[in-house]
Amino acid sequence: MNEASYDIAVIGAGPAGSATAIGLSRLGYRVVLIHQPRRRLSIEGISHHTLSALQQLHCHHAVDAAGEQVARHIVWNGEETSRNREFVLNRPRFDAALLEDAIAAGVTLIAGKMVKNHRDSDHWTLKIEQEGGRQAQRARFFVEARGRGAPAHGSRASLGPAALAMSRPWRLPPNSSASHLATFAQGWGWYICDAEGNAVLQIMTAAKLKDETQTQGLSLQQRYDQLLNGFSAARNWIRQGTPAGEVRACGAGMTLHSDLVQENYLRVGDAALAPDPLSGHGIFESLSGAMTAIAVIHTLRQKPERLQLAADFYRRRIEQRYGQLARVGRDFYQQETHWPQQRFWQQRRDWPDLEPAHPEPLSKPARIETRPVILEGMIDSQPVVVTADQPLGVWQVNGVPLVPLLELLKSKKITPETAAQQLQCPLQEVKQAYAWLRQYRLT
Ligand SMILES: Cc1cc2nc3c(=O)[nH]c(=O)nc-3n(C[C@H](O)[C@H](O)[C@H](O)COP(=O)(O)OP(=O)(O)OC[C@H]3O[C@@H](n4cnc5c(N)ncnc54)[C@H](O)[C@@H]3O)c2cc1C
Repeated sequence: MNEASYDIAVIGAGPAGSATAIGLSRLGYRVVLIHQPRRRLSIEGISHHTLSALQQLHCHHAVDAAGEQVARHIVWNGEETSRNREFVLNRPRFDAALLEDAIAAGVTLIAGKMVKNHRDSDHWTLKIEQEGGRQAQRARFFVEARGRGAPAHGSRASLGPAALAMSRPWRLPPNSSASHLATFAQGWGWYICDAEGNAVLQIMTAAKLKDETQTQGLSLQQRYDQLLNGFSAARNWIRQGTPAGEVRACGAGMTLHSDLVQENYLRVGDAALAPDPLSGHGIFESLSGAMTAIAVIHTLRQKPERLQLAADFYRRRIEQRYGQLARVGRDFYQQETHWPQQRFWQQRRDWPDLEPAHPEPLSKPARIETRPVILEGMIDSQPVVVTADQPLGVWQVNGVPLVPLLELLKSKKITPETAAQQLQCPLQEVKQAYAWLRQYRLT
């Protein structure tokens, strides 16, 4: 047993764990990242927003690992579109590039599987299983970033309709890059292929893994083939391909956890909020969750007296995002009307509720409240403007604090030039903040 001490241990090196470790290391913490690499090929797609988030985090190796851009061809409710473009991502390559970014940021890497953790009064002890044996490490803060596989410890706050993603790698001729998504009676399928001809065809259904393998008495492979038989669009995508691996399955329903943050513990990425893969935005959500987590953990380490404030900030953000993603997904599922009697489509038509995904901005009057915000990298309390469509409150627009601007505007007839001088903000930005306030009928 080899013992060392770290300020922060991050368990799991997907985008959430790596980005959190990188950000905290850059703030000067001694960070250890326990990583157990993905063993099998998986290909995903990321948007331009995700690449921008990686650039913002200075994850240059990860940016370079993104493959070519392809159009996503969608057939939904019989209508064809190909408006969105995505970058093809070889996930093992991308995750390895994130580890290079972590090394460059000064993070200590330990390859292995964390098999046990134990909390004492002021530190965690972690047992890590490696090829050559076991080792133990100690850290003051524990970041749970093991993705959907993270133990729930009874902390699931909300679960979307059950979903099973069955996927199989395929081999296509080189230069067949493409991305396709289409619906069928039992769910939907997604196919993505990179320039080298590595492809994955994934089929999403309403089942639970146990139902598929036990109740029906079929192997995963037989069930996948059976679904493919009834899914002509998907058969077409792989007509020139040959199987390049086993069929794998994993639960893929939306999940929100309740035990999100404590004084020396935080869940991030899919371990906190796992989105519906239909969004195609899971990696983006993990990176933006990591950016928030960095500020929350920094606050908890430097200003432990702000625990309530920081925890409230983190919980509200994740819960609000969960509700929004669920409702956006519901609106999209509602647009598919071919199989109203099928379980998959029935379950998704009105979950989580019938609230609008994007509330009308003026449906409730805007109000001012004191809320937690990120100020100079830490969570602090500030007056914000809360509106129907921005329920977490807006503190600044283009760096201009809204409530101080509103107070200036109300106290006297003041020109934007004078307001800019008093707030020490550029005039153009003050004009934009003023326009924002007007839009919400606050001036
Ligand atoms: C079928 C499917 C398709 C998807 N397609 C897309 C897509 O095209 N685009 C997109 O943006 N998102 C997609 N997503 C979502 C995306 O994959 C996730 O949201 C994202 O990977 C979550 O990042 P994470 O870091 O939280 O977790 P993960 O990426 O899952 O990383 C967790 C890491 O923890 C490691 N780990 C687990 N247990 C241990 C342990 N005991 N010790 C050490 N390490 C451990 C794992 O090996 C893994 O490396 C898809 C999801 C699914 C289910």
